[in-house]
Amino acid sequence: MLVVENVTKRFGGLRALNRVNVEVKKGEILGLIGPNGSGKTTLFNVIMGFYHPEEGRVRLQGEDITRLKPHEIARRGVGRTFQIVRPFGDMSVLDNILVSGLFSVPKGEVHRKIADRCHDILKITHLTERMNVPADELSIAEKRRLEIARALALDPQLLLLDETMAGLTHTETDQALEMTSRIRKEFGLTIIFVEHVMRAIMAISERIVVLSEGTKIAEGSPKEVSENEQVLNAYLGHRRTS
Ligand code: ADP
Ligand code: MG
Repeated sequence: MLVVENVTKRFGGLRALNRVNVEVKKGEILGLIGPNGSGKTTLFNVIMGFYHPEEGRVRLQGEDITRLKPHEIARRGVGRTFQIVRPFGDMSVLDNILVSGLFSVPKGEVHRKIADRCHDILKITHLTERMNVPADELSIAEKRRLEIARALALDPQLLLLDETMAGLTHTETDQALEMTSRIRKEFGLTIIFVEHVMRAIMAISERIVVLSEGTKIAEGSPKEVSENEQVLNAYLGHRRTS
């Protein structure tokens, strides 16, 4: 589905990503972890075409997308959520999803109509009863679900989730986990997700990639990664909280 090959992204003298290699298979759910500032969001921004790397390539289903613009990449089936949620506050939940869906222009195959998809999206994100409420009035957990709903409106094949469980209670996190698994199954998606709630990562990742200071320091099953000494050191060394 996705191949990130030898990608380096610099900001001035800082190497936010340093020759990073990541592969994701179709249908896989990959957890991306690492201390604060290790390059996780930057990697998403490179995949989405918000940043162009100085070195390396990104390929989506065999096609080189490294130099494409964000909307061109979105149209090829990549959706993402933002770490900082930013819905249109005075618009209803439903309109927020519809507006997002308007930008999904079908490419090649026949896509379902946005309106049809909306019903399924509202249902799977548990927002049906809140569809006419202005986004500003949603709780944090609901706003996070709306972010996911908006990403789904683009009818992606690959979904990038950036800390969609941040700030949630224990119970809300469990619900979010269950929802993420269901979305993947029902929409047949490939998912890469960044999360700091270790319990969440361990529960649903098939494979985990660990970044530290822009470099991939480990990769493997949740068990392998949690027993990796370099990973433990990276976390203990940083004591990140956010
Ligand atoms: P993470 O998501 O893992 O916390 P980021 O990818 O946001 O980390 O950031 C990686 C590093 O790149 C950090 O040191 C951050 O300050 C820096 N960085 C990210 N975006 C920019 C930018 N637009 N300009 C300058 N530095 C940036
Ligand atoms: Mg980040």
